[in-house]
Amino acid sequence: MTETSTAGHASGVLYVVATPIGNLADMSARAIETLRQVDQIVAEDTRHSRKLLQHYAIQTPMSALHEHNEREMAPRLVEQLLAGASLAMISDAGTPLISDPGFNLVRMAREAGIRVVPIPGPSALICALSASGLPTDRFAFEGFLPAKRAARRSRLERLLRETRTLVFYESGHRIVECLQDLCELFGAERRAVLARELTKQFETIQDAPLQRLAQWVVDDPNQQKGEIVLLVQGWPEPQAHAVTPEAENLLAVLLEELPVKQAAKLAARITGLNKRALYDRALELKKNR
Ligand code: SAM
Repeated sequence: MTETSTAGHASGVLYVVATPIGNLADMSARAIETLRQVDQIVAEDTRHSRKLLQHYAIQTPMSALHEHNEREMAPRLVEQLLAGASLAMISDAGTPLISDPGFNLVRMAREAGIRVVPIPGPSALICALSASGLPTDRFAFEGFLPAKRAARRSRLERLLRETRTLVFYESGHRIVECLQDLCELFGAERRAVLARELTKQFETIQDAPLQRLAQWVVDDPNQQKGEIVLLVQGWPEPQAHAVTPEAENLLAVLLEELPVKQAAKLAARITGLNKRALYDRALELKKNR
C-alpha cells in the first residue's frame, strides 16, 4: 500500500476508515481488509477500539490520536507516511473527523502530497437523517450545540430562519434543556425527530412537533439516556408574495402612524417578506378602514 508522492518517492496512504456506531455487524468488508493490511492503526481511544479489532481478528499495531495530542502527533504521522508507512485512522464510532479528531492529520497529509483514501461507512447523522422523514435534499449538520445555555440560545437564534433540515448531535443529559430552548425559539409546532441509540438494542426514532417531543422526553427518563441525534425541520420559507397573518397585524399597527409606503418598507425590513406584496396589502387595509 504505497503511492508515489509528488516528490517522486513512494509514500504511504492515509486511510480514513468509518467504523460502526453501535452494531459491530455494520463494519464493511473493505474496512476490515484495510485495517488488516495497513502498517499501523491510529485510533481515538486504543482501549475502546481493541474490542472492535478483536471481534474481527485484526492484529495491526495501534497508536492513539485524540483531541489532546493531535497537533503534536499529526506531524510525526505525516513523517511516517512520507517514509512509506500506510496508516488507517479510526475514531470511537462512525466516521472520523465528523465531530471527531482527525482534521489536522488529514489537512497536513494532503498538504504533504500524501494520498488520503476514505473507506466509507456509518455516521450517526446520515443514519438518523435517512430514517427521519424530514427533507433530505438540503440539510445542515450543526454538530454539538454549546453546553452553556446562553451560547446555545445564541447559536439557535442564528439558525431560526435556516430553511434546510437541521441536524444536531446531543448527549442524553442535555437533551431536555436543548429541546426546551428549541421550543421557545423555534416555536412549539416546528417538526422534529429524536433518533436515539441508533443501530443498538434500544434504538428509538420519534417524530413530533417540538413541544410534544420535549414533553415526551421529560415524561420518559429512558429517552434521556444514550446517544442522540436531534433533527429539526427547516424554517418554512414563506411564499415569495405571501403576507402572513403576523405581517398583516404588524402592517395594521404601522399604518396607524405611517403612510402606506413607509409602513410597507418597515414591515418588509422587520419580517423579511416581499415589499411589493406588503405595499399592496397595506393599500387594501387602508381602503377597508
Ligand atoms: N464520528 C461520529 C459519527 O460519524 O457519527 C460521531 C462522533 S460524536 C463524538 C458522538 C455523537 O454522535 C453522540 O454524542 C451522538 O450525538 C452521535 N451518535 C453516535 N452514535 C450514535 C448512535 N448510535 N445513535 C445516536 N447518535 C449517535
